[in-house]
Amino acid sequence: MLFRVQSYYFFCELQNFLYLCAQIRVCVYIIKDMRLVFASNNAHKLQEVCHIMPAGIEVLSLREVGFEAEIEETGTTLAENSLIKAKTVYEWLRVHEEQVKGGCIDGVFADDTGLEIDALNGEPGVYTARWSGVQGNEKELFAANRAKALRELGGQVNRGAQFKTVISLIRGGDVLQVEGVVRGVITEEEKGIGGFGYDPIFQPEGYDCTFAEMSEAEKNGISHRGRALAKLVEKIERMNE
Ligand code: IMP
Repeated sequence: MLFRVQSYYFFCELQNFLYLCAQIRVCVYIIKDMRLVFASNNAHKLQEVCHIMPAGIEVLSLREVGFEAEIEETGTTLAENSLIKAKTVYEWLRVHEEQVKGGCIDGVFADDTGLEIDALNGEPGVYTARWSGVQGNEKELFAANRAKALRELGGQVNRGAQFKTVISLIRGGDVLQVEGVVRGVITEEEKGIGGFGYDPIFQPEGYDCTFAEMSEAEKNGISHRGRALAKLVEKIERMNE
């Protein structure tokens, strides 16, 4: 019985993964030579996004376009924060675009991600990044955040959670927003060394390993960010038709 349930989940996820690959492969041929700036300083995210985007879309980092300011995330929702990030960089580029190597930029996109834990009424949500309040380098902050999640869920049977990503794209003055969600559970302890953030304690539905135990391609195929990006690419493709 257990084997049958696991096989079912495996084939569902395989189907999702192949669907994502097919969608993105189709777009390689439809979307030609578009240059988008990704408004994030998170190197892990940038790497994931560059691997997920089809070849027709060139993704430029903030460093590549010369944007150095810190963006304050003052919104109260993921949608607001992703829009604040995209808008800030978009406005900056309107003034500084000519200094960008290679010229014309077609748009700016930004993501904002939250971990929503069922037993904590959806916390930390929009406060996921600095939940533990620890001041330190990125690695220390990630570790303290994970430790807090494990502490808060100590003795809890309900360990359900989800990652949610909202991406905002500003292109030619138009705003487009998409969302990607992946359900899973918070594990009892850390497992794996890959990925970043909460990956070592997040086990996606239908898998018996955490995001940190998966290859990057496997994570991207089912992740919140991968799903949101697939929707974004599909919408860009429709706008181009
Ligand atoms: P951000 O505000 O979108 O940068 O994301 C908030 C926080 O969520 C990050 O600082 C990470 O701790 C966490 N996070 C975002 N994406 C992921 C992911 O793919 N895996 C694990 N943690 C993530």
